[in-house]
Amino acid sequence: MAASTPLIRDEVTSLPTYNAGLHPEKLRRQLGLERIVKLDSNENPLGPSPAAIEAVRAAANDLFRYPDRDETVLRGLIAARLGVDADRLAFGDGSEDLIGIIYRMVMRPGECAVTTMPSFGLHKIWADVLGAHARLLPFEAGWRFPVAAIEAALAEKPRVLILATPSNPVGAVLTGQDIGRILAACGPETLLILDEAYVEFVSPEARVDTLAMLAAHHGPWVVLRTFSKAYGLAGLRIGYGIAHDADFVRNLYKVRSPFSVNAAALAAAEAAYADTAHLDRVTAEIRALRAALRGALALRGYAVAPSEANSLFFDTGRDGAAVAEALRRRGVLVKPWLEPGYTGFIRVSIGTRADNEAFLAALDAVMAEA
Ligand code: PMP
Repeated sequence: MAASTPLIRDEVTSLPTYNAGLHPEKLRRQLGLERIVKLDSNENPLGPSPAAIEAVRAAANDLFRYPDRDETVLRGLIAARLGVDADRLAFGDGSEDLIGIIYRMVMRPGECAVTTMPSFGLHKIWADVLGAHARLLPFEAGWRFPVAAIEAALAEKPRVLILATPSNPVGAVLTGQDIGRILAACGPETLLILDEAYVEFVSPEARVDTLAMLAAHHGPWVVLRTFSKAYGLAGLRIGYGIAHDADFVRNLYKVRSPFSVNAAALAAAEAAYADTAHLDRVTAEIRALRAALRGALALRGYAVAPSEANSLFFDTGRDGAAVAEALRRRGVLVKPWLEPGYTGFIRVSIGTRADNEAFLAALDAVMAEA
């Protein structure tokens, strides 16, 4: 059979292979360990609302039916709480699905998406797939968003400006002042995407009402959120976006595959969204665990970025990939950062207290070995 490479577009063959790592159960058996400490995907180990698990069980009775492609119930719940028109909400098979859909809607070959560096890989990869590209602007000293560089980049009218706040992997948040400057510089030809996958973890004093600020913006915008992180439903795949207008959403649903949000995910998300007490409890606990882990790393002399997400980004002072591999052999999974300039860094997700202690013990052992 002929090689498929001539068939496939160059934009695709030149992409790096996504490294999703070894499945933890496979790794556990391979290493003969009792348990794997999985801190490489920013999951929420405290889990979802018990009501969400119950809702999935109940939804199992109707699995022969297609899901409600209008997401009527969940749409109503979110619209009411956020005070936005329901037809300005869009749902996807995880928020990463929505990033891809939105890029396909607006980006032509050769166009540019501006974002930060270090960055969330999919903010760049979905642009590359389309024959467009991403321009990565490094964070400023002290892990401040590079607002001056963003303003300068916006003067060239990129098609997209996409910023994760809190950032993945850094954990930094845009301040109200940062957002004000960015909105003032962002013209109508640029779609502003704020990826708020981690917004529920932000401490009360660092919170910014982005939706209120965006309401006064004249250009197009989308805010992306997910049920994968604070809501603890990563395995079910559901995220949503709030767009500047209903027309944008109408067009988005032409590009989206019709039933991309499955029935179990919808049922779970409805129950999880209603259980605000559970959300408040787990996010407060993750914030406390985050502060404790950050303190423990700082005490050991590591430079740790201040984080409002459920992860910490820190400089190992060594080759981060080698440290991560040594941790992996001890059954602790973390994410080494591979972008140039950050190859000494590791991103570690906030686990349970026991997870975090196991991570620190393994890190100490690895560093003592080297
Ligand atoms: N945005 C950011 C910044 C993320 O870190 C992630 C997940 N790692 C996502 C979006 C995608 O999340 P999901 O598709 O699970 O909603």
